[in-house]
Amino acid sequence: MGDKMDTYLHWSTVIANKAIAQYGDNHIICSGWSPSGVYHIGNSKEAVTCHAINMAIKDKGKVSKFILVLDDFDPLDKIPKDLGEYSKNLRPYLGHPLNRIPDFSGKFDSYAEYFSNGAKEALSSFGIEVEFIKASELYKKGLYDEFLEIYLHKNEELDSLFETISGSKLDSYISVICQNCGNMKTTTCTKIISNVIHYKCSSKGMYRGCEFEGNILIDSHEWKLKWRLDWPARQTFLNVTVEPSGKDHSVSGGSVDTSLAIHEKILNRPPPVLEKFGFITIKGLKISSSKGGALPANQIHQIIPIPAYLFLIYRSDLMKDINFNPATAEYGKLFDEYDDARRMSKGINFENRKSEVSKLSTAVKLAMHNHHNDFIPASVKFEELALIYQISLCSPSLTIDKLDNMNKLPNSDAKIELENRLKLIDHWLSNFAPSNFLVNFLDEPNSDILNYWDDEIYDLWSSTLNDLTQNDSPQNLVNILREKAKINDIPPSKYYPAFYQLVIGNSKGPNAANLVFAIGIDEVIKRLGAIKNLLHR
Ligand SMILES: [Zn+2]
Repeated sequence: MGDKMDTYLHWSTVIANKAIAQYGDNHIICSGWSPSGVYHIGNSKEAVTCHAINMAIKDKGKVSKFILVLDDFDPLDKIPKDLGEYSKNLRPYLGHPLNRIPDFSGKFDSYAEYFSNGAKEALSSFGIEVEFIKASELYKKGLYDEFLEIYLHKNEELDSLFETISGSKLDSYISVICQNCGNMKTTTCTKIISNVIHYKCSSKGMYRGCEFEGNILIDSHEWKLKWRLDWPARQTFLNVTVEPSGKDHSVSGGSVDTSLAIHEKILNRPPPVLEKFGFITIKGLKISSSKGGALPANQIHQIIPIPAYLFLIYRSDLMKDINFNPATAEYGKLFDEYDDARRMSKGINFENRKSEVSKLSTAVKLAMHNHHNDFIPASVKFEELALIYQISLCSPSLTIDKLDNMNKLPNSDAKIELENRLKLIDHWLSNFAPSNFLVNFLDEPNSDILNYWDDEIYDLWSSTLNDLTQNDSPQNLVNILREKAKINDIPPSKYYPAFYQLVIGNSKGPNAANLVFAIGIDEVIKRLGAIKNLLHR
């Protein structure tokens, strides 16, 4: 234990070490995404993963770049549900390449550009350094030509490779764009002789064909390799050294298996490091809750600060699925964990978690890349902050003043951060917060308050609070309270409801000790005075 555990490495470091051992000093970390719909949280996990690996390789003094290939030459397979109002205009383009479909919003050059813009916005707000490359450009430049020729030349090996790995060979190596109607889902490649591709176009299911029969030259670039052939080809000409992919691609006989085999057996080269990763979903959202993880990535900042979102990914094991649900207490715990890790990375309060320091410090460093959060955060837990905010009548300035008086703001950056965090808390309280986080602080006790209080309970609370100072911890309050109640044989089912009734007019509420500190000990003692008067009237 001890020293050995301190060297527990972050996954990005492990993958970087592996890539450097295999490929040396120059690296391309690659990922792909098809701009056929919104770039959502689930998609962003891949880019965030690539970014971490890219940073880890650079940290080791090597040259590295992260490339995201926008698969804008893919066909429109189906119209996304959330484009309902435009679906009539889009229907004639079903099966057409995404970069040749007009943008329904009228703002961009194409359908593909419209959705690519969302991805660019999101990754730029995440502080991720990435070069975007359009697949349509790669085809136009002829970079795939040589690979189509290799595949055609080695077709027997390729067919048997597919039969062995995935159980059936590909019915065609390419999709051709019909020169008459522009569709690429309706064409069938009938034969390829020398450099001429022959095809015919006819309707297939919901994709409308035109019965055209024609031919194109390979160097017209009016064709696209099928995905499983496209992927290893572009990994080769882009010199990709690492490409993470979702667990779904990694199933037996899936595209990872075929890609590895094509590199080794057809292209005769070592494959890139093809790392697997787990998924992320944000649950409990009111918007598009039917589809897990469908929150657009450029809207995450409305729910969680971006560095905290990145930290959520970076603190977890790479293969683990993350199901984050802001409608639970998990939400506040993420903030606390994020703040704790930031303190730990500065050498504060890490004693109990020594084995995690290296891993969490890396997670923090990655999460804060290009986000100026390099300061000690305010020493207030999320739940306490949410309570103080509500008790301060949801006024950010009263909340900040109160925290300042409690010496919880170590620096001006922490103060600015809290001001921003209060905006999120306000949104959270009205949209997601479980009911036990909501408090309605009473100006004075309800008229039935004596149903809950008697001299015994009054003495218990009064003597406990008078024993405490503002510097005591909520846990200390609980200990003293429990001790005294035990001596006098008062059950918690009596003294806690009495307290909640006094301050929030309810028999249940958030953690009572946190609530006492949020209200302030002196203020609660003042309240007890009112009870005393009522009891002895
Ligand atoms: Zn056609």
